[in-house]
Amino acid sequence: MSTRQPELFTPQPVDAPGSYCEVAVPLPTRGCFTYGVPVGMASLVIPGVRVVVPFGAQRLVGYVISVSPTAPPGLDTDKVKNVFHVLEAEPVFPEDLLKFLRESAEYYYHPLGEVLRSAAPAVERRVGDDPATRTERQRTAHKARWARVHEETYVKLTARESDAPKLRGDRQAQLVAMLEARGEVSMSELRRHHKSARTVVEGLRARGVVTLERREVPDDPFFGAAVPRDVPPELTGPQRVAVDAIVSAVEARERAIFMLYGVTGSGKTEVYLRAIDAAQRKGLGALLLLPEIALTPQLVARYRARFGDQLAVMHSGLKDADRHAMWKRLHRGEVHVAIGARSAVFAPVRNLGLMIVDEEHDGSFKQDDHFRYHGRDLALLRAHRAGVPCVLGSATPSIESFHAAMEGRYRLLELPDRATTAPLPEIDVVDLRRVGPRGPTGHELLSLPLVRALDATLKRKEQAILFLNRRGFAPSVRCVRCGVAMECPSCSVALVLHRREGALRCHYCDFNVPFAGACIVCGCTELTLLGVGTEKLEGALVASFPAARIGRLDRDVASGMGAEEVLEKLRRGDLDVLVGTQMVTKGHDMPGVTLVGVITADSALAFPDFRASERTFQLLAQVSGRAGRRELPGRVIIQTYQPDHPVLVRARTHDYVGFYQDEIAARRELGYPPFGRLAAVRMDAKDEAQLQTTATALDTYLRCLPDAVSGAVKVLGPAPAPIERIRGRYRMQTLLRSPERSALRRVLHALVNVLDTYARDGVRVAVDVDPVQML
Ligand code: ADP
Ligand code: ZN
Repeated sequence: MSTRQPELFTPQPVDAPGSYCEVAVPLPTRGCFTYGVPVGMASLVIPGVRVVVPFGAQRLVGYVISVSPTAPPGLDTDKVKNVFHVLEAEPVFPEDLLKFLRESAEYYYHPLGEVLRSAAPAVERRVGDDPATRTERQRTAHKARWARVHEETYVKLTARESDAPKLRGDRQAQLVAMLEARGEVSMSELRRHHKSARTVVEGLRARGVVTLERREVPDDPFFGAAVPRDVPPELTGPQRVAVDAIVSAVEARERAIFMLYGVTGSGKTEVYLRAIDAAQRKGLGALLLLPEIALTPQLVARYRARFGDQLAVMHSGLKDADRHAMWKRLHRGEVHVAIGARSAVFAPVRNLGLMIVDEEHDGSFKQDDHFRYHGRDLALLRAHRAGVPCVLGSATPSIESFHAAMEGRYRLLELPDRATTAPLPEIDVVDLRRVGPRGPTGHELLSLPLVRALDATLKRKEQAILFLNRRGFAPSVRCVRCGVAMECPSCSVALVLHRREGALRCHYCDFNVPFAGACIVCGCTELTLLGVGTEKLEGALVASFPAARIGRLDRDVASGMGAEEVLEKLRRGDLDVLVGTQMVTKGHDMPGVTLVGVITADSALAFPDFRASERTFQLLAQVSGRAGRRELPGRVIIQTYQPDHPVLVRARTHDYVGFYQDEIAARRELGYPPFGRLAAVRMDAKDEAQLQTTATALDTYLRCLPDAVSGAVKVLGPAPAPIERIRGRYRMQTLLRSPERSALRRVLHALVNVLDTYARDGVRVAVDVDPVQML
């Protein structure tokens, strides 16, 4: 960490510092700055607290990183300015977390001040630079939080059915049946089921069948209804082996990494529950990360059924004040278990004893802007530093993780079968070339086998999910006169037709124009609609299966809790067919779904990225996992123009290990991860020529570095990014690849030190360590 001085100075009240502190300010600068600590403040300035400091002509809020009795060598102590105020008595970050954040910033070459700001709870972050308004805002935040806690009446059963007095009427019987199944139900939920619930409940209470209890509940969708505690099932043999191995590592505080590999439904979640429970019994904290999309109320309910309110859930749907409340409860050590998406890796869990990353292969663990960290990799780092075990779970592990398991660096734990009796679904691959351009219904992407299977499913009164990763009606519209597809004016991508809305939309910047059937450039009305989106597919299905109840789920029709509602309709059996994008893979239990159709596997395979095969395999496995989870056997139909593609051949037989072997051979040959380490230098600018100049200059610089000259690091590029322009900014990237981590880091160090010289004239340059997206 370099030590620098702010450039501008304003005269300071002289109060000779008794000691010095390093402060990280929220600016895109890489080092920390040294400030003096006035004698009177010495006991308040401790690592992790925020301080207001002078910075040039401004005042900034920064975090104290370290304190030392002497000034760093070489610093002119006469010029050191003093800290103005300390913002709080208790550090925002506990010391071990602060250390971890520092290391994260160093690993990703991201300014520490910005890393701390993104890791801090939202309310803390917004508190202004002026301490005067701060208390006021904190008070409001506090009030807002409590205002959102409301009281709720819970209805509980007191008498068992056998000794209950005879129930009067259906209403009472129904209500009692519901209470028997659930233990307790909130009054507001009962009222949603029956308008007259209150009268019915009063009747039951008068006769001693139920009691009422008023309690405070936080206003969080995930915490709305109390969840009765569950009874843990008897573990299967392989689950027992996995739990024992993890629990003994937790108890011994062993730095082990476990790869828990098991198909969807093999009981991985049950293993996590047991391991967390064991950590809790030892008085240790646990942190579980999972993709945002997997963080459904249903899943959270499973954790709550085991841990009750002793659980912090961190998700993007939380309001700032609630997120802050969760953070505080963990920070104060009132709660020891946290589950959440990517950014929960920074949750202030005390006395961490166990780290878990579920669906560790998922691309959403990587943040693709600003602080470009990988949640899984940071989870591994945090566990390592804490000296505790980390469990990575997946049905389709990332190639890197599985390779580590094959090499014995991670301990492989396998759950070979589904925990319940449901067998894996049968997968059929349909060759679209043989089906011809038009299927039996006249729609290009509904093949005869798929139509037949759908028909049979509907006749059996079962349900189907059809997956297509393109929303909208037609992914591009070509004008016959202009001869080209209509493009977004600020991004180099085609505009997507959303017919119901009557608009052409850009899926990258959300630019949209009304569309009335004419070319937006020349006005010609002779247009060709290319490709199929979910909206068009839905229309085709409605036309072909008029009697079926068909729903759609993508970002256009649902977001956040709206998606939950659509899925709930499917779960309740109010839909026969659900068409949608990746969002349909959300939600665990869909007991009535026996058919899953993948409309086309080809778009995922066509991604210009060395991970395209891996992602396609994972996607197909995940989508297939939705079929037949209970008594009913499931079936999956995958349509493709490349039935002989190795990925499809492996996916058809659920052969992850075979897929891994194909893929690892290819990676070895090309030097891609895990055989080489990558970093991307991403550059963008409004001015294309300026970008080109910068990219070339940087390229020259990189190629002249000793590690590049010796060939230890390969410099690939600069090349235009696959999507050349987004939001009006041209994009280029240079890829750095090396078999050796140390050589690559030397190059990155050198690069970061000169970055400011290149990142100017409107050109942004960012370093992406271990990049995931190549777009
Ligand atoms: P995964 O996390 O691997 O997808 P889950 O833990 O969700 O698997 O388990 C799938 C289903 O099997 C769930 O309904 C779960 O309750 C059930 N299950 C898990 N373990 C057992 C077990 N040992 N005995 C009976 N049912 C189990
Ligand atoms: Zn656009």
